[in-house]
Amino acid sequence: MREVLRRLAISAKHLIVLDDFLINNDSEYRRIEEKLEQMGEDYLDFCRELYFGGSKTRGNPPLGSRQMILSDIFQYIITSRAYYLAVKDANYKKKFVKIVMYLVNQWLIMDCFGPREVSFLRRELMKTLRESIGDRDFFEAGDDYHIRRFEETLEYDDDLIPKPPNPHPPDKSILDTYDSLFPKIRGGPIEILVYLYLLQRRLGFVVSLLTQQRLISGDRVITPPDILLLRSKGEVIGLEIGRGKEKQSADFSLVTGIPTFSIDLVERQPFRCDECGRWITYCDRVIELYSERGVPEDHNYVIHCIDCPYFNDGECPDIMCYIESTNRYGVSRKARYHFRCLDSITRREVLSNNPESLVAYYPLVEGLEKFPEE
Ligand SMILES: [Zn+2]
Ligand SMILES: [Zn+2]
Repeated sequence: MREVLRRLAISAKHLIVLDDFLINNDSEYRRIEEKLEQMGEDYLDFCRELYFGGSKTRGNPPLGSRQMILSDIFQYIITSRAYYLAVKDANYKKKFVKIVMYLVNQWLIMDCFGPREVSFLRRELMKTLRESIGDRDFFEAGDDYHIRRFEETLEYDDDLIPKPPNPHPPDKSILDTYDSLFPKIRGGPIEILVYLYLLQRRLGFVVSLLTQQRLISGDRVITPPDILLLRSKGEVIGLEIGRGKEKQSADFSLVTGIPTFSIDLVERQPFRCDECGRWITYCDRVIELYSERGVPEDHNYVIHCIDCPYFNDGECPDIMCYIESTNRYGVSRKARYHFRCLDSITRREVLSNNPESLVAYYPLVEGLEKFPEE
């Protein structure tokens, strides 16, 4: 992640140096800059699409929201710049898939300070962000509501984990405030994983609209699906990632005549471990196989860890287990756990009686197995 962001900052710096030099040395350039500045709030609203400490917890239109902005920028890096690595040749495409999988894992891990055990780190992170960005930008809207929610979230020291598994999650405004500090957690990685899947199958040429969530035709604006597949003979198919956006898809289909389907990762991945409260990341073996060999022929999305070269008698940290156990809330339920997070008795039991239940998942997409390749 680090080098990706360093280079993004260098690109920004390069443009800033150019801009500085021109402002200082060319009067015509400077004159136009002054016109922009004279536009005042209108120009600032334009700029706020690039960063904004919103007035609402998630920041509502017209000012966008910080988590959407951060997510868009991150997705832009992957789908619109780094992506050119993938088009070079098959070998580079494998590397692209591998790198993006690692980045997705880091993206999931960003949400690791929700559990109360690390609430001190959560507080530290929130303070660090506020200090490093500076209140002027961090709370740009300057409204008390936003600042108060931030203070409340700062003071909250129990789990910032939603229901389920958390039977007593905090007020939604607190969860939202914390979320707003990150590029869209869960939704963002899922979109990228679906995108990776589509790149690896011949279902059509993949047009990512992940960072183009509005399209304009003259005075009309529509909300397109996340992805378009361009198929032979002019066939175009829209794919909306995640559920609950049927209305939006129907509107798009009605206007454009392009059929649109909802898709999602199999079994609603990624999973949160019911014991430690962290997201379960994609294991090294899956990343290796997925990047090297692509989508498995039979669309089998489960790896049985006992057959994995990294199994190490169950010591591999990425092993997942779907069993009935008592979770971090003292509730007994069938859920996904890191194998590493189960108590030693349960671990021994599973290892001797039911090692088949130790698994790792490929991030495959549900609903497109039978869709004809071309
Ligand atoms: Zn865990
Ligand atoms: Zn493994």
